[in-house]
Amino acid sequence: MRAMTQRAFVDEKICSGCEACLSLCPTEAIKMQGDYAFVMALFCKGCGYCIEGCGEEAIRLLDYAPI
Ligand code: SF4
Ligand code: SF4
Repeated sequence: MRAMTQRAFVDEKICSGCEACLSLCPTEAIKMQGDYAFVMALFCKGCGYCIEGCGEEAIRLLDYAPI
């Protein structure tokens, strides 16, 4: 069975582009993509620090299955 783990995902419809989450990520997995934050799943460890720092509640941890 393929291992499932969790990664952070940003909902573009909610993200205000404040960039607060960028400096909270220990692996620098979050980048701006236009006006929105974007999580590079390959670098995300699923720690959730970014979620705690997002005032818009735009970030969620979702199950992620590496290909
Ligand atoms: S902290 Fe939240 S609202 Fe701000 S850029 Fe990150 S995901 Fe978007
Ligand atoms: S869950 Fe942790 S590693 Fe993943 S983007 Fe958020 S702060 Fe970075």
